[in-house]
Amino acid sequence: MQIEKRIGIVGGGPGGLTLARILATRGITSTVFELDEHRLSRPQGGSLDLHEDSALVALRHAGLEAGFKALARYEDQGDALYDSQGTLRFSLGGDPDGGRPEIDREQLRTLLLDSLPPETIRWGSKVRAVEPLPDGRYRVAGAGGSLGEFDLVVGADGAWSKVRPLVSAEEPRYTGVLFIELSIDDVDARHPDVAALIPRGKVSVVGDNLSLIAQRSSNSHVRVYLMFRVAEDWLQQGGLDLSSSSRAREMLKARFAGWAPSLLRFIDVCNDTIVPRPIVALPVGHRWTHRPGVTLLGDAAHVMPPFSGEGVNMAMLDAAELALGLAGDSDWSRAVAAYEARMFARAAEAAAGAMEGLDFVSENALEHMVEHFEEIQRMVDAPRP
Ligand SMILES: Cc1cc2nc3c(=O)[nH]c(=O)nc-3n(C[C@H](O)[C@H](O)[C@H](O)COP(=O)(O)OP(=O)(O)OC[C@H]3O[C@@H](n4cnc5c(N)ncnc54)[C@H](O)[C@@H]3O)c2cc1C
Repeated sequence: MQIEKRIGIVGGGPGGLTLARILATRGITSTVFELDEHRLSRPQGGSLDLHEDSALVALRHAGLEAGFKALARYEDQGDALYDSQGTLRFSLGGDPDGGRPEIDREQLRTLLLDSLPPETIRWGSKVRAVEPLPDGRYRVAGAGGSLGEFDLVVGADGAWSKVRPLVSAEEPRYTGVLFIELSIDDVDARHPDVAALIPRGKVSVVGDNLSLIAQRSSNSHVRVYLMFRVAEDWLQQGGLDLSSSSRAREMLKARFAGWAPSLLRFIDVCNDTIVPRPIVALPVGHRWTHRPGVTLLGDAAHVMPPFSGEGVNMAMLDAAELALGLAGDSDWSRAVAAYEARMFARAAEAAAGAMEGLDFVSENALEHMVEHFEEIQRMVDAPRP
């Protein structure tokens, strides 16, 4: 049965697209407003591990499990830990049944987009604000005026949501940790010494207040995050010269001075796309008083540091629970309030864990990480029920 109420989703990231897809499978039409001009406007980023109890549940509800399995890299669940002198401190082999298969962000987005009726997505629609109307509905407004009026508007537009001000005065705050994102192309053929450091999945290198994560994507591509603590205006104060990639590489190597030359190769061989990503977070336990006709999911509701790899997983589970709630209850306000109550509790727990992850960039980080790996090893070794 086709439901006539109108739902507008702001943001076509993993959360917004999962919501649109599950709604579509339940006969509920939605409109997604996405600021990107088209699906290939910008690179979508590196690899994601999707978790059995969240994103994979959402993909099952979306009827996309088989499509996911065809793309996922089950073999890339390995994880290794080095110290800054290049000594391997721990290695987790990467159990192909480990419950956290990897997929490139771009592949995930394509899987979701291809599953939607093309008219669902309004590309090139940068939402400026969402305005309440006297009849209880909401107008989604872009630069050129109204983009449409809806019974329910869902903010799935990430950390800097334009929908959030309708329900909350909170804004994400800088956590003090800056990531610098680097990319290495064709690592296996062109840089076998670097490839040997990441045989499978991901590698973490931990020093004092300086860390690095390198993560494989498909096609021998590697995404590297250099992590350190700097003031919020460090970039504006000229901390890194991004006008010249060779100068930026030299400055980054100077910051990591004292690290083993084998590890500095991650900086030597990266391509010219060097992207700073200040890590921001909403307060742990962010919540709001339910307001009929509007809600948030994913980063818009609970952006958190990415250390525990929960962001996409939470966004997709939020989307699934919201979609199933809307499909199962004709009183949408009641369905949204029930979704929010569950999501607030789940997100608060995940955000608290993610904030602890900031210790990954600290003086005693190596000690913490060895303990963390030992704990994972114990869980892997524990007999399965
Ligand atoms: C460096 C880094 C590494 C990360 N690594 C991982 C990881 O390994 N695993 C993991 O699970 N999570 C990771 N995360 C977190 C993850 O990226 C987010 O949690 C996840 O993308 C949230 O999904 P979302 O759909 O809520 O929002 P987003 O992915 O942010 O999508 C929002 C969408 O809304 C669009 N949009 C924004 N504003 C507007 C507007 N005004 N109008 C219209 N459209 C708009 C955007 O273009 C985008 O398409 C990482 C984050 C960072 C910063």
